[in-house]
Amino acid sequence: MNPPDEKTRELLRSIPQVNDLLEFIEGQGLGSDLPRKVLLDSAQSLLEELRESILAGTLDEVCREDITLELAASMVVQRGWQSFRTNLRKVINATGVVLHTNLGRAPLAAAAFEAMGEAGEGYCNLEYVLESGERGSRQQHLEQWLRELTGAEAALVVNNNAAAVLLAVAAVARGREVVVSRGELVEIGDSFRLPEIMAQGGARLVDVGTTNRTVLDDYRNAIGPETGALMKIHQSNFRIVGYTDEVSLEELTRLGRQQFVPVICDLGSGCLVDLRRLGLPAEPMLKTAVESGADIVTASGDKLLGGPQAGIVVGSREYVEALRKHPLARAVRVDKMTIAALEATLRIYMDPWRAPLDIPALRMLSEDATVVRDRARRLKRLVKVEGLTCEVVDEVSRAGGGTLPMAEVPTYCLALSAPGRGASELERLLRTADVSVLGRVKDDRLLLDLRTVADGEVPTVALVINENIQAGPPCDDAT
Ligand SMILES: *Cc1c(COP(=O)(O)O)cnc(C)c1O
Repeated sequence: MNPPDEKTRELLRSIPQVNDLLEFIEGQGLGSDLPRKVLLDSAQSLLEELRESILAGTLDEVCREDITLELAASMVVQRGWQSFRTNLRKVINATGVVLHTNLGRAPLAAAAFEAMGEAGEGYCNLEYVLESGERGSRQQHLEQWLRELTGAEAALVVNNNAAAVLLAVAAVARGREVVVSRGELVEIGDSFRLPEIMAQGGARLVDVGTTNRTVLDDYRNAIGPETGALMKIHQSNFRIVGYTDEVSLEELTRLGRQQFVPVICDLGSGCLVDLRRLGLPAEPMLKTAVESGADIVTASGDKLLGGPQAGIVVGSREYVEALRKHPLARAVRVDKMTIAALEATLRIYMDPWRAPLDIPALRMLSEDATVVRDRARRLKRLVKVEGLTCEVVDEVSRAGGGTLPMAEVPTYCLALSAPGRGASELERLLRTADVSVLGRVKDDRLLLDLRTVADGEVPTVALVINENIQAGPPCDDAT
């Protein structure tokens, strides 16, 4: 390598010393909310980058002005804030998938996150009975509401539905067989595979029937001295159509009772309101499953119920008690934040008319498409980027989270396209903005579905578009 020429040496000399830089930053009161370690790391990495780019002759890719203390300091602080950002942060969901598992499933009702704040901020009667001053159960707070809302004799809440199923299998059928229809051996999203859960619960799976048809005799013929439970699993994220037959939960529980075998029903989503009332396809309700006589019914708290991540168990006193007493129950127990959020959510359902108004997931799913269209039009009016084409188009939203797989909810999107920029480029620009806006690409346009965007988020989405999408070539101002 040739020795650096005079110009290069001069530039290298203009790079400040790390200590001078940090002293200057402190003296100016810049970045005072940043830990010193973050500032030091940012300063060191900036200076290293400046040195390398000077030697490589590419300085203007890093810094277009003369290197001054002021300029370097502001670059360090900016870097510092970038690296000190929280890893978990808010995003704006413009995908139109309401229960998006990767984006945290159900957004909580206001009452639910207020209750979480209160429970988290101080102490609460989590396992304490205030009337008697004695130790209580954390389950007492939820059981009352779940019994009232589902008609079940008893209820238990655990960490999530996968844990509920695991606990049910372990407590009821450990070392024995669980009979399941082959058409219900599903994989739910993030590799929830029933056969594996069975194995972990210490039970042997006996699958009966065929993928598309299972009749009551298939179950009856499988019952023997080793049978620990009959199980029904709601087909969440898929449907088998055409020549099909399945055994209803009522028929299955009747068989179970005749043969003295308990019946477990994994509902998956588990609604507390009749979705048909909201203009949506029916999803099985917890109450109906309980009425069908199942001994144990399990469901997720953060799917169509619209609450926090939780596994809800309702059923007969005898079996719920067996789950409660099992050692695994301690390993999958819920924390106070979940209890607070879930209790607040369940209380909303005590007045079924309030649920579609106050529970965001239900509100989004049932909102009239014309209201979504108005929101899309409002966004369109706020977007001001030269050369960007914006059009309000009708589209379909999805429930997501393995619920309502066949439901196509009519919606309106703002479709963005710009000459010379692919839709995936637009998608990336909004996704990597300071506030991420996530849309979906279709037919080389970026679709922003306003069904999953709150009214109050519309100005932010417009700002993100206006600030991050520029006409003309990409601006690669690196700092
Ligand atoms: C979603 C789902 C699960 C898993 O529930 P989590 O709460 O995500 O653990 C289990 N079974 C069925 C049928 C489901 O739909």
